[in-house]
Amino acid sequence: MQKLFRYIKPKEWGLAFVSLCFIVAQVWMDLKSPGYMSEITTLVQTPGSAMSDIWLAGGKMLLCTLGSLAAAITVGFFAARIAATLAKDLRSLLFDKVEAFSMEEINRFSTDSLITRSTNDITQIQMLVTMGLQLAIKAPITAAWAITKIAGKGFEWTAVTGVAVLAVIAIFAFLMVFVMPKFKRIQIMTDDVNRVTRENLTGLRVVRAYNAEAYQERKFERVNEELTGLHMFVSRTLAVMSPMMSSIMGGLSLAIYWIGAYLIHNAAAPAKLTVFSDMVVFSSYAVQVIMSFMMLVIIFMMLPRASVSAKRINEVIQTEPTIINGHKTEGAHGVRGEVTFEHVSFKYPDAAEYILEDISFTARQGETIAFIGSTGSGKSTLINLVPRFFDATEGEILIDGVSVREYDQEALYNKIGYVPQKAVLFRGTVASNVAYGDNGGDGYTDEEVRRAVAIAQGAEFVEKMAGTYGADISQGGTNVSGGQKQRIAIARAVCRKPEIYIFDDSFSALDYETDRILRKTLKNETKGVTCMIVAQRIGTIMDADQIVVLDEGRIVGLGKHRELLKSCDVYRQIAMSQLSEEELAE
Ligand code: ATP
Ligand code: MG
Repeated sequence: MQKLFRYIKPKEWGLAFVSLCFIVAQVWMDLKSPGYMSEITTLVQTPGSAMSDIWLAGGKMLLCTLGSLAAAITVGFFAARIAATLAKDLRSLLFDKVEAFSMEEINRFSTDSLITRSTNDITQIQMLVTMGLQLAIKAPITAAWAITKIAGKGFEWTAVTGVAVLAVIAIFAFLMVFVMPKFKRIQIMTDDVNRVTRENLTGLRVVRAYNAEAYQERKFERVNEELTGLHMFVSRTLAVMSPMMSSIMGGLSLAIYWIGAYLIHNAAAPAKLTVFSDMVVFSSYAVQVIMSFMMLVIIFMMLPRASVSAKRINEVIQTEPTIINGHKTEGAHGVRGEVTFEHVSFKYPDAAEYILEDISFTARQGETIAFIGSTGSGKSTLINLVPRFFDATEGEILIDGVSVREYDQEALYNKIGYVPQKAVLFRGTVASNVAYGDNGGDGYTDEEVRRAVAIAQGAEFVEKMAGTYGADISQGGTNVSGGQKQRIAIARAVCRKPEIYIFDDSFSALDYETDRILRKTLKNETKGVTCMIVAQRIGTIMDADQIVVLDEGRIVGLGKHRELLKSCDVYRQIAMSQLSEEELAE
């Protein structure tokens, strides 16, 4: 928790200090009131006292109360501000951190947990800070101050007050033993509810089409019920708290008056009045003491939950990304767009088996290198190593003669135009999706966007859309077809004017003709750009300068189409299943 307080800015610390002053003022005024009360009591009981004196004391008491109210409101305002600012800063911090994470860290935390951590967990901290500032400082000051005021005013009264305080602490300790362990579970269950909800929403079409609503509902019910159960348990247990505290408070007043009755009875006649007035004052201070302890109890009840949240937030903040940034921005002199794999082997974090083994090849500037192989042979894994989504377990990947690990990531990404296997579109317009991100220049002109879309063979359909380049794209690109989505994603890569294209099966949703024209245009329009293409279709890669044939993570063939047909069994089999006799013979 303290670790998070480091993120409170000096300005907010300043506000916190001002709040402290207001709180002290408030406590002072709160504790002043009983004094006036006893004054009034004495005045009323003394024969011949002037009405104006009673009014005066009453007026002062009223002023104190109003002052205390004003101070409380001010502190409330400040506390809300400090807490909200802290929450905002923590959210930004988490967002930035998660952006720097590689797939490994994201998988480790899980997306759902990262979402709850940056929303619900931060809210817990925010609540604690808001309440904490108002109560945690006020309570001990009040308690200590009030105790000094009543100390020595009567041994019997002090004793019962002590007993009441002990009772409050005992009840609190008892409850906490039962409630505390549940808090951690509540946050984990919140993650789970989030996960099931997200899964259901993203897979909605499949859920519908497979009549799986009931199944999904059951799944949701399970987590939902457990979370509800936990909340019920905690709330019910805490619900006992409030009436118990009121009883203690009532009981204490009763005990004080009871003891007071005896004391007054036994006192000598002139002293009776003093004892009575003492009793009135004592009981109001005693109530203040108990109230402060109750406030502390409230804070202590929030503390465990918030500390669970703080821990979860800290876990994210303190995780160092496994992908460490290098500092080179340029490749070796005289090389551009060259990709070299040197004996690269790779296994996924925590996995036992290697997915790629001993991969070596070089793609020179302007060359097209293609990767083919059965599904699961490791093609996507291989090309995902180039933009460092993961780091190679063994071996080295060089771009322009420099290891990818040594590049500043921004510089590395500026060299690459990456189109993932599953095209990703963001909510916005066609243009905002194509002109996406930053390539080190000052943004893209409309002309560049148009040209990129034209190269990606998207001009025709984009210009037919309502609003053409300004046409809306919904989140995930659900309002365009699969092939259209791929073309917008390709246009995005083209728009960057990279040194190296990486297409992970990015032509799969295009018809053969569009596929052919697109590749031809790309080759003509972006000369000198190296092209790494993963494809399932022989037709897409036939004319590549090099073809890498992958089988179970190993290279089983490397060469041109004709050579491979002769020398590589795996390749010949793929070719035979896709091409006619004449095409093979050509
Ligand atoms: P496809 O043609 O179907 O796209 P691919 O050749 O691209 O297949 P990869 O996605 O590279 O295949 O997957 C290769 C292997 O790596 C698979 O056996 C898969 O189980 C495993 N794999 C893929 N992604 C992960 C991951 N994030 N964690 C662990 N294993 C993974
Ligand atoms: Mg793949």
